[in-house]
Amino acid sequence: MNRLIFLFAAFIYAIKPFAQNMPAGSPLDIIPLPQNVEALDGHFTLPDGGISFSIDGSDDDILCNYIASLPVKFLPADMHEADMHIEITDSKTPANEESYTLTIDRNQINITAPTETGAFYAIQSLLQMTRGGILKQLECCTINDTPRLAYRGLHVDVSRHFRPKEFILKQLDAMALLKLNSMHLHLTDGAGWRLQIDQYPELTSLAAWRPYKHWEDWWNGDRSYCNTDDPRAYGGFYTKDDIREIVKYAAERHIDIIPEIEMPGHSEEVLAAYPELSCSGKPYTDSDFCIGKEETFTFIENVLSEVMEMFPSQYIHIGGDEAAKTGWKNCPMCRKRMEQENLANLDELQSYMIHRIEKFVTSKGRTVIGFDEIMQGGLAPKAVVMSWRGIEPGYKAMQQGNHAIMTPNSHCYLDYTQDAPFKEPVSIGGYIPLEKTYSFEPLPDEATPDEAKFLLGVQGNLWAEYITDDSHAEYMYYPRAFAIAEIGWTMPEKKNYADFRRRSLSLIEQLRSAGYATFDLANEYGDRKESQQPLSHMGRGCKVIYNTPYSKQYPAAGDSALTDGVCGGWTYGDNKWQGTMRDFDVTIDLGGVKPVRYVGATFLQSVGAWVYMPRRVDIYLSDDGEKFTLAGQAWCDVPDTSAEIRYKVYSTLCHSQARYVRIHAIKYPKPGSWLFTDEIVIN
Ligand SMILES: [Zn+2]
Repeated sequence: MNRLIFLFAAFIYAIKPFAQNMPAGSPLDIIPLPQNVEALDGHFTLPDGGISFSIDGSDDDILCNYIASLPVKFLPADMHEADMHIEITDSKTPANEESYTLTIDRNQINITAPTETGAFYAIQSLLQMTRGGILKQLECCTINDTPRLAYRGLHVDVSRHFRPKEFILKQLDAMALLKLNSMHLHLTDGAGWRLQIDQYPELTSLAAWRPYKHWEDWWNGDRSYCNTDDPRAYGGFYTKDDIREIVKYAAERHIDIIPEIEMPGHSEEVLAAYPELSCSGKPYTDSDFCIGKEETFTFIENVLSEVMEMFPSQYIHIGGDEAAKTGWKNCPMCRKRMEQENLANLDELQSYMIHRIEKFVTSKGRTVIGFDEIMQGGLAPKAVVMSWRGIEPGYKAMQQGNHAIMTPNSHCYLDYTQDAPFKEPVSIGGYIPLEKTYSFEPLPDEATPDEAKFLLGVQGNLWAEYITDDSHAEYMYYPRAFAIAEIGWTMPEKKNYADFRRRSLSLIEQLRSAGYATFDLANEYGDRKESQQPLSHMGRGCKVIYNTPYSKQYPAAGDSALTDGVCGGWTYGDNKWQGTMRDFDVTIDLGGVKPVRYVGATFLQSVGAWVYMPRRVDIYLSDDGEKFTLAGQAWCDVPDTSAEIRYKVYSTLCHSQARYVRIHAIKYPKPGSWLFTDEIVIN
């Protein structure tokens, strides 16, 4: 009998928490986290037949049609009968255009917003609370919400790999859910031109196709293009009709599509099709436009005119990054331009072009965005700087009264590996896990309130060299795009990574059930184990004598870095790896003659970033620091062709005594390549 009572009680206990925990959608699960949430008592139950809704104060039916098309069933209804009432108050100011108030009580949902955009974002919050329509109950609450920053963007590189229109539309849906409002389309680059331009048909009949599917094969091969009808042709482009469809779909989701046309560099594909626009006049010779020739400006202005006709966005991106500037030096036309315009150097020549194009774009009522190199030689007056080499260039622009969008490659480059390289698809290198992206703060500490006004926003960039498949691209975006969204929307003092990770796990499930490929955050491996705690060994703390200097760009902890016990993580860029563009040649002074049994050092290879394994490492021992005896050698056995990130310990066992240990790592012979090591371990 007692046993039966016990079992019955256990049964009650087993079901009771379940009954209490009938899941209800919570406003505290939303990404980006709303600015202000007030909990109210009770739950709203979604009616079985769908949520009836009415909209007041809006005379276009775009919002109504959008809501009615959602997977969560919404049905337009008369105002008095509606379960959900939306009111557009039309009291907008530039500061609150995207804001909304969402109140959920036991019987009704009420949304008020100054614009359709605000109401649209309230709907996105609601969609996340229902986890895409799975949850049938919502916690009662009032949300008052407004974004921190005006520009919240994602970058899509369709030059390195063309992505079909459907891919773009799908990402726009995910962006809408995250309240991201700008998609930066990288439409042109050396790897392919992706946009129909009527006046220049060769841009799409030739420059949109290459006889290589994989970017690395093209890059390491002859970097050629081919005609559309070539059986090897890989690539594609958007027609004007495609673009109109994309722009309309984006506008319905309150997203601007910002087209980017690269200049003066990254333009190999244009100059293969129209070699007369290059300094040499020959195809497959230059990567930069000739700034001396007037034809260049005619071409760019004609192209931009067609671009502005297709894309209504306020912002037009003109690239501006990484010009090689090699052709300009010896080009008579470029030299003449420099003389005529009184330009002191090649930076000023580049700046001449950017200023002139900015003036043209401004005359059409639009605003230019460029990567931070557009500041070289003087910044154009109204240009917006997209700061990718850290936030310092962006901050400098803000101090000059130009707007800045922060997308530093330390936190916002979503093409970098997001987990342990051994378990991830091949990437360009680096290591930016979700937590790193999330930790990004775009406003410099020292910015004054006046300067802070010029911080326009934040963006995640996905360069696609190594990302052939569309599903791989999605895998790289999500969940790191969630972090970009929260950085742009939520006030920094409300951010908390543990809570964000919890919300991300649930949003990942929502995206997966909607057919998105995402990173498996639940099974994240994390940083390299060696980097997580200091390593003790006999050489730790000993003095390092540098026979060749390390690079000032990658000093790690400086002179003590190689014996401080701190090992590097997955990326050479984490400030724990020391880099050089020469041989590594150092001597460690153990402070006295000691038995030495083992000497070793780990090196890293990341071919996409021009970081290679040493060809060989020679290890010498000495009692006096003058006469050294070779104690061992270790050779490279890692292929230099693999783009996989690799780590290798070069070591030797010794049975000797010594005071001085010299390590000479012989560099990979490619000029401009790097060598990185983190610690020299001696026992
Ligand atoms: Zn030239």
